[in-house]
Amino acid sequence: MKMLYEARVRDLGPEDQVKVQCGRCLHVVLIPQVGMVQGMRLAPDTLIASLEDRFRCRKCDTKGSAIVTIVWAGAPVNPAYH
Ligand SMILES: [Zn+2]
Repeated sequence: MKMLYEARVRDLGPEDQVKVQCGRCLHVVLIPQVGMVQGMRLAPDTLIASLEDRFRCRKCDTKGSAIVTIVWAGAPVNPAYH
């Protein structure tokens, strides 16, 4: 388990998810590891935190203001990993 700002796509296990919340409308999406590797085709060394700049909200179409959190499988949701 790593801190958000050093975690990369390859650090995630199949059960881990990334929670992306829009900074504008607060719309939340949960992206499983497979969604990032196969769906978004991110390279294994992509920093998870870099999704904050890439993510475009499906609801309000805002880009670059997302708040990214890693939801580690089996771990309680902890704001410290925010
Ligand atoms: Zn939004």
